[in-house]
Amino acid sequence: MSHFIDVIIPLPLERLFAYRVTAAEADFLQPGMRVAVPFGKSKIYTGVVHNIHQSPPLNYEVKDIELIIDEQPSITIDQLKFWEWIASYYVCSVGQVMRAALPKSLMLESETIILKNPDTEFKDDLLNDKQFLIMEALLHRPALKIKEVMEILDRKSVLPILKKMLELELIILQEEVYSTYKPKTVKYIFLNARYKDEEHLKNLLDDMTRAPKQRDTVMSLFMLQTGNKLVTSKLLQDRAGVSRAVIKALIDKKIFIEEEQAVDRVRDEKEKGRELYELQPAQQDALNEIREQFDAGKTTLLHGVTSSGKTEIYVRLIQEQLELGHQVLYLLPEIALTTQLISRLKQYFKHQVLVYHSKYNLNERLEVWNHVIEHKEPYVIIGARSAILLPFQNVKLIIVDEEHETSFKQFDPDPRYHARDAAVVLGNIKKANVLLGSATPSLESYYNTTTGKYGLVELKERYGKVLMPDIQIIDIKDKHKRKKMKGHFSDSLIEQMQEAFKNNNQVILFQNRRGYAPILECNTCGNAPQCPNCDVSLTFHQFKKQLRCHYCGYHTIVPLECPSCSSTALDTKGFGTQQIEEEFKELFPDHKIARMDLDTTRGKNSIEKIIEQIDTGEVHCLVGTQMLTKGLDFRNVSLVGVLSADSMLNFPDFRAHERCFHLLTQVSGRAGRTVERGKVLIQSYNPDHQILQQVSTYDYSTMFKEQLEDRYQFKYPPYQRLIRLTFKNRDYNTTLQAGQWFVNALNQIEHGVEVLGPEFPAVARVRNLYQVHVMVKMGKQHHPNNIKNYIRKVKRSFESIKGFNSVRCNVDVDCY
Ligand code: ADP
Ligand code: ZN
Ligand code: ZN
Repeated sequence: MSHFIDVIIPLPLERLFAYRVTAAEADFLQPGMRVAVPFGKSKIYTGVVHNIHQSPPLNYEVKDIELIIDEQPSITIDQLKFWEWIASYYVCSVGQVMRAALPKSLMLESETIILKNPDTEFKDDLLNDKQFLIMEALLHRPALKIKEVMEILDRKSVLPILKKMLELELIILQEEVYSTYKPKTVKYIFLNARYKDEEHLKNLLDDMTRAPKQRDTVMSLFMLQTGNKLVTSKLLQDRAGVSRAVIKALIDKKIFIEEEQAVDRVRDEKEKGRELYELQPAQQDALNEIREQFDAGKTTLLHGVTSSGKTEIYVRLIQEQLELGHQVLYLLPEIALTTQLISRLKQYFKHQVLVYHSKYNLNERLEVWNHVIEHKEPYVIIGARSAILLPFQNVKLIIVDEEHETSFKQFDPDPRYHARDAAVVLGNIKKANVLLGSATPSLESYYNTTTGKYGLVELKERYGKVLMPDIQIIDIKDKHKRKKMKGHFSDSLIEQMQEAFKNNNQVILFQNRRGYAPILECNTCGNAPQCPNCDVSLTFHQFKKQLRCHYCGYHTIVPLECPSCSSTALDTKGFGTQQIEEEFKELFPDHKIARMDLDTTRGKNSIEKIIEQIDTGEVHCLVGTQMLTKGLDFRNVSLVGVLSADSMLNFPDFRAHERCFHLLTQVSGRAGRTVERGKVLIQSYNPDHQILQQVSTYDYSTMFKEQLEDRYQFKYPPYQRLIRLTFKNRDYNTTLQAGQWFVNALNQIEHGVEVLGPEFPAVARVRNLYQVHVMVKMGKQHHPNNIKNYIRKVKRSFESIKGFNSVRCNVDVDCY
């Protein structure tokens, strides 16, 4: 009898592929194990075993597998189920989900590049023949592809050999070179061990009577360390009220020792986390209601105003699960912006906190993956979108914080999943409770509470009964008329900033656009320099004196004259964070400002640095883009200024008004989080706009009602489902024809389903590729699976048409 396995291969192919295995292999293999398999003429892929069976495939010749990679499954059965759901719902292949889910180091492929391990000394005579041949080849060449190894050894089955060599640390894979693991370290100050006992310490202090500052510093460190605290130089300086020089002197005298320690790796198992806060009655009520909803089996939305203490409620729920030995998944939007939250959770749960981060390198991600699948102890896993794809064993609670954030939706490439919606499905598969939290819930989630699909729990007051910030709208049309503007600052904003600085408070300025001024325009002919690759105007960046494209990264120097009419009257139009920074420096030369946007936060720890500068009071004002709105918690910010709300209101998108409400409410929430009531000034040319009125009166429910009405009328979610098809090609006509072909081919679609387009989006060309959209809109009465299957079928025909070979076609379900 023959044995076969069906294998998931990480390619955009809809089916699984069968391979032959021996009886012994069939006996050993389990679904979820990785195998290396040959594919096509000479390729090798890492695949995942889907199932094991005995029926040979009918329409193609089966091959043998190359190698069994795992001894234990790397993927759980539930995970396979979840992958299948994602592939089916979001119209892509399970292989594409696999590619998104598995850390690269779990995927050997024929294109994988092999290098000599620079850290290993090896002796030729300990190598076998094949190993010797490979190592010798690596002496003459810096790197080998797996394909080339096959040629050198003149055999197809090379992976077992390479796997062994990896284990012996003779070779490494290329990705690992770019990402050698470097734990983040911090320097801590310790008292030299010889002064640990009281007598020696007393003698030391007696000797120091003539250096009172040093003496106080030693005492301060001693006190801090009796609390078992790791003490940084900065903390000690603050506590003892001394400068770094004093500490330096004590280090030189060997009384203090300064030592680097890895932050992530500090794992003192015995160390206990901080005690939980006692919840306020409102928080306690909310917690009880959440439990009731969970007991009723419902996904629950926690709608709590900014700073109402939602996080402390999550902490309770997390602790409960960890004590039961379960895993918890805590999903956040842009994880990079949440160092504050991570350190907060680490105070409570110490080493039980795992962070899964797109900025982490491969080894770090693999480490988290292994921790999660081995499940040797309970963990709370904090991660952005892709953390939903981890191999959870026993996850019983999933929290989606800031659930309204659009970055939970993957935009490109496939799978184009929404992590919040997928979390609800994962919760079903794993029998885990799902909690969505936000101060400004998405219309979709809130709508689900009104239909009874989700439970709703509300928290209407801030922690400590601090009042919500006082929000004022400033009419800048009027201010311009009365000459009350200095640059982009109105007199009212300047006054309030002066007031804040006088009281030693900090200020946040919000401008949802980076750079200096978005575009350069010719005053004579109106021409604005365009990106040669994309249909957009270039953005002016003052600092580097450059024009840049935010879509493709193209940049060029600022021209001295108009490229079209040679006039030198070039002017900047609009404004960004960088220009606000410049204007601030003119207006407040005695105060320091920091900027937070995509340009200033590229480095791995750059955000942490900015946050620290605010926390320590080193800077007085922070200007930034929407990054600012994401859950930052500063103690001392009393004023938030929004320089212009108008571009957000006028954005051509059916979610623009909702998003504007979210952004402004969230950024306002950064003001006055502790004692005094905060103030918010929003500058706008449309002060009477209903969204601005709703923001300033905290009227979520009117916003919800009005927006929902619009959605109903114009047939948008949550009443209708949207599927967007995008066609991309270098040639304008081919792109348009492809879209038109698809629209025509969809003519058999169910009655009542709308097919719109093909249409060029606002930016019709990006990176030299034209794109057109086709939108499919369906009401709730239609069965989405039928329609998706139909789209799949048409897409298959499309892909077999010669003339459209070079056209890429993407399907985006529930598009944003
Ligand atoms: P949210 O997540 O709703 O924005 P947070 O959980 O960040 O609110 O709470 C706001 C602030 O109030 C935080 O600094 C937090 O430490 C504090 N806080 C919240 N609940 C309590 C409590 N029960 N006891 C003491 N401090 C609390
Ligand atoms: Zn011109
Ligand atoms: Zn471009």
